[in-house]
Amino acid sequence: MKNNKIRSVLLGALAANLGLTVLLSVSIVSSIILELLPPLLLGRAVDSLTADRMLTAGLCFGYFALTAAAGVCRAVREGLVTAVGGKMTHALRSAMSRKLSRLPAEVFTTDTSGSIAARFTSDADAFEEMFSSGIVSLFTDLGTVVGMTVVIFTKSPGLGLLLLVVLPLLFVFTRQIQKRMLAAHGENRRAIAKVTGFLPETLSNIRTIHVFNSERFAEEKYDKVIGESFAAIEKTNFYDAVYSPVILTTSAAVIGIMMTLAGRQGPFLALFGITVGTAVTVISYVGKIFSPLESIGMEIQTIQSAAAGIRRIRGFLALPERESPAKEVLQEKPQTAGTAPAARKEPVIALRDVSFSYDGKAPVLSHFSMIVEKGERVVLRGRTGAGKSTVFRLVLGLYTPQEGSVRLAGRNPAALLPEEKRKLYGCVEQSFRPVLGSFRDQITLGSTGITDAQCSRALSVVGLSPLETHLDEPFAPERLSHGQHQLLAIARAIVTDPPVLLLDEITSGLDSATEKTVMEALQRAAAGRTVLSVSHRALAGSGERVVFVGEKETD
Ligand code: ATP
Ligand code: MG
Repeated sequence: MKNNKIRSVLLGALAANLGLTVLLSVSIVSSIILELLPPLLLGRAVDSLTADRMLTAGLCFGYFALTAAAGVCRAVREGLVTAVGGKMTHALRSAMSRKLSRLPAEVFTTDTSGSIAARFTSDADAFEEMFSSGIVSLFTDLGTVVGMTVVIFTKSPGLGLLLLVVLPLLFVFTRQIQKRMLAAHGENRRAIAKVTGFLPETLSNIRTIHVFNSERFAEEKYDKVIGESFAAIEKTNFYDAVYSPVILTTSAAVIGIMMTLAGRQGPFLALFGITVGTAVTVISYVGKIFSPLESIGMEIQTIQSAAAGIRRIRGFLALPERESPAKEVLQEKPQTAGTAPAARKEPVIALRDVSFSYDGKAPVLSHFSMIVEKGERVVLRGRTGAGKSTVFRLVLGLYTPQEGSVRLAGRNPAALLPEEKRKLYGCVEQSFRPVLGSFRDQITLGSTGITDAQCSRALSVVGLSPLETHLDEPFAPERLSHGQHQLLAIARAIVTDPPVLLLDEITSGLDSATEKTVMEALQRAAAGRTVLSVSHRALAGSGERVVFVGEKETD
């Protein structure tokens, strides 16, 4: 069930690129077949020569053409593997990015952003690697080994049987060597990391080492880690040195046994008796069959190490999502349709008997209620950690309360569609969060529906009109002061002319003169809107109603 998401994404990508997928499959099958054909022609040529016949031009040319075609086919396959692998990884990353925007806010507090980023980078890369250097090559190599064994069987059943015994044994041997090599490489990496850490540490403590006469101690420690690295490298060298001779000796032994038995009369003749040409063909196969065997081992390794990344991506795609907007619209429709005038009377923001806790244990809000009517200005106050920002996050629909209800313009804020949000409210946070792109992008956040006239109006309301001429320039945070950043944040919030403004401590960290400028801009921006703000300071003469979160401050 969980599997299905990742599988359907990948199958979808293959289906969307059907032409490439078919070409890739054709190139895999052709490269397996083309790998098998040249030794057969070579055998024929040798048979012709031993029978004192002239080699035909067709045979010579055929051998050359097939060898060249096998090379071309391999190159085409490599190119297609990269293209199809890239398309699949692209589809996977797009699915993950869609998932990211549907995740509830708590995921970002429980999972560090680094670990989420790793799903998109190293884990997705591991998938691509697994596809191109794992699955496709494994399939090709297995096809080659099976194909060669089948041909050998038809040419010389005795050699076929011999290979059936030898190949599995060699494969087990190959895997054992590969596993040991991998472990030794790991040991070496760890030892090198220790050496790299040890050197600067020793150098920075060199005076202490001299003063306390502990040179010997440092030397011995260094000797030990260097020794570990040396031993690990020795191990890999040993396995490397053993592997090739074993393979070469085995293939020589297999050929030797076959040739010895082929020369005998009696029962062996039926099994091993072959022409010189066939001998050349099968010897050529035996020489070629061990190299895919070694690759198969490496491909299994690649698949195994990528599997952990794929599991993590699967887990990521299976994370529970925020409430589905579609569901909410369906629930709300009968209400709004049947009671349209009543819905209009709904307060702009309504929290009713809300109890909320981030972790399900420590309560942050308990039985908190607050109603903000149209056109009102409400300030949330309370001691630090009382839950003011939490009320904001609930109103923004980032979290859903365990008890009670939160309504924004009569709707469940968690279920608002993304395009509805900016039409309904603008939000300014404690500090400005820039996005990559131009000055315009800072205001529109990439919404294409926002016109330059709207941007200009928003900029002029906050007193940043001079920026109008720079809209197309790349945004560099250094070009604006802290106060100007907050003004830009207000412009971003009001550019879609939303009826509601949500402001969380927007003047914190500003000096009093800048705070005055920002507050004046805010007064202009807030005209005609419903405003809910968090502020430690009361704003003189703005007709605000104060709502306390938690216990009332005693100061
Ligand atoms: P301040 O005035 O300092 O901004 P606040 O009233 O805005 O404080 P909140 O940020 O709402 O306080 O936090 C309320 C409580 O919830 C705090 O005790 C805080 O430790 C806890 N809290 C806030 N965010 C999270 C989170 N993502 N996960 C778990 N606990 C959290
Ligand atoms: Mg806060």
